[in-house]
Amino acid sequence: VFTLGIDVGGTFARAAVVAADGRLVTVAKRALGERKPEAVADCVAHAVAEALEAARGVTIIGCGVGVAAQLNPSTGRVRVAPNLGWRDVPFGELLCARLGRPVWLLNDLSAAAYGEFYAGAGRGQRDLLTVFVGSGVGSAIIANGQLVAGIGGVAGELGHIKVVPEGGRRCGCGELGCLEAYAGGHNLIEQCRELVAQAGSPKLLALAGGDPSAITPVHLEEAALAGDPGAVRVYHQMRDFLGVAVANYVTMLNPARLILGGGVLSRLPALRRSVAEGVQRYASRVSLTEFQVVDAVLGDDSGLMGAGLLAAQHAQASHRITH
Ligand SMILES: [Zn+2]
Repeated sequence: VFTLGIDVGGTFARAAVVAADGRLVTVAKRALGERKPEAVADCVAHAVAEALEAARGVTIIGCGVGVAAQLNPSTGRVRVAPNLGWRDVPFGELLCARLGRPVWLLNDLSAAAYGEFYAGAGRGQRDLLTVFVGSGVGSAIIANGQLVAGIGGVAGELGHIKVVPEGGRRCGCGELGCLEAYAGGHNLIEQCRELVAQAGSPKLLALAGGDPSAITPVHLEEAALAGDPGAVRVYHQMRDFLGVAVANYVTMLNPARLILGGGVLSRLPALRRSVAEGVQRYASRVSLTEFQVVDAVLGDDSGLMGAGLLAAQHAQASHRITH
């Protein structure tokens, strides 16, 4: 049996025909043009048509869609998708109408975590914590081999725990003081630009070739390691918030592995090390006895694979309920 695994990020929509063992049979990728929900659903439908065309006549039993959003899988409604600028969008319905089949919406990180659990860095373990730092901060919990969803489908959102309870920075989710507002790549760049606008970090500006719009998190790490005081302040704050938050998560969940990934963590080696050290320093001793920190290994494929595998599970579960 085969399923469709779909990933809707901030820039691309990707669709794959996924085999029962998680193998990606065909993959198609489309750049998102307009961010309007209908336009994104059209774009996904084109990618799906291309992936199906290349797979030639396979039977599809389910369709899983990972979206970079806080959403409710049982209603198919996206609550907040900062990268897409969406609030309360019935994306499941829009997709279902275009694809002519039921779709199962899930958070993109949940899909990626499930892919890593099944065939990647979490293989062989049933209790995992996955934390990805890219343009945002995403995370997912797998407990006893199952994704933890919560009553509304938004459990495990490490990016939106509060690290500054009063007067914190505005997060993409609309709330104040979230971890993502300090540690997500998008917000880090914003903090760097504010710093440079106040002439607070000559080194950072120099590394970006004098152009504030060219600043990346890599420049921030370099400037901080070179001792630039403004850059050190922003970088240390991010590093400490992230280290303590992840450590507290480890204390709470006692996972066998912490899987780290995402563009910011993979391009900032000192930050990756600091997060791992922070966990060793701040997590409770007893939660660390059989614990390992590992890197995600499947790259972009984990989300497609996880969405496809979860769609198969979901299709089989609903089949059992109806018959
Ligand atoms: Zn938030």
